Amino acid sequence: MISDEQIQARVRELGAQISADYEGKTVLLVAVLRGAAIFLADLSRAMTVPVELDFMAVSSYGSSTKSSGVVRILKDLDEQIEGRHVLVVEDILDTGLTLKYLLKNLASRKPASLEVVTLLNKEGKQRVPISCKYSGFSVPDEFVVGYGLDFAERYRNLPYIGVLRPSAYQD
Ligand code: 5GP
Repeated sequence: MISDEQIQARVRELGAQISADYEGKTVLLVAVLRGAAIFLADLSRAMTVPVELDFMAVSSYGSSTKSSGVVRILKDLDEQIEGRHVLVVEDILDTGLTLKYLLKNLASRKPASLEVVTLLNKEGKQRVPISCKYSGFSVPDEFVVGYGLDFAERYRNLPYIGVLRPSAYQD
């Protein structure tokens, strides 16, 4: 669906845009494990402002391809975020349920600013309104893998984004 070259070009653009917006500030990039790890690695290196990294893990799909709506923090941040410029790095925004919960939780810790960058945004799919300032690509409502995104923990290392053939997960 999206080639290695297309991803790399868009990530460089996002890095430049975010760096311009945060000129003179230090950004704390908060990645949501595990899917966003690959995007975080490339995005952070495309940024020219000072960057710090922290990680959260929340429960997500497991090995199913449908959103459960159940969000649980499995690993919290190591850093305090009060008064800091926090940018949440997500792999894909689907129903928005995960992010809605996360943003509410992070906002209660009183960061100086709180924004979201997502690599992929599923068109017409958001069930809850999310203010997502930076988005890499809009994608149709299909189950995608690669560039950090998995199916049952596989395919995360593909350098491109592809659509999983339904025969790979249906009986
Ligand atoms: P949401 O709460 O927005 O429905 O789901 C967000 C999370 O679900 C993402 O961070 C990702 O882990 C997972 N997810 C949603 N859509 C897809 C998809 O098409 N492919 C993969 N591999 N994961 C997805």
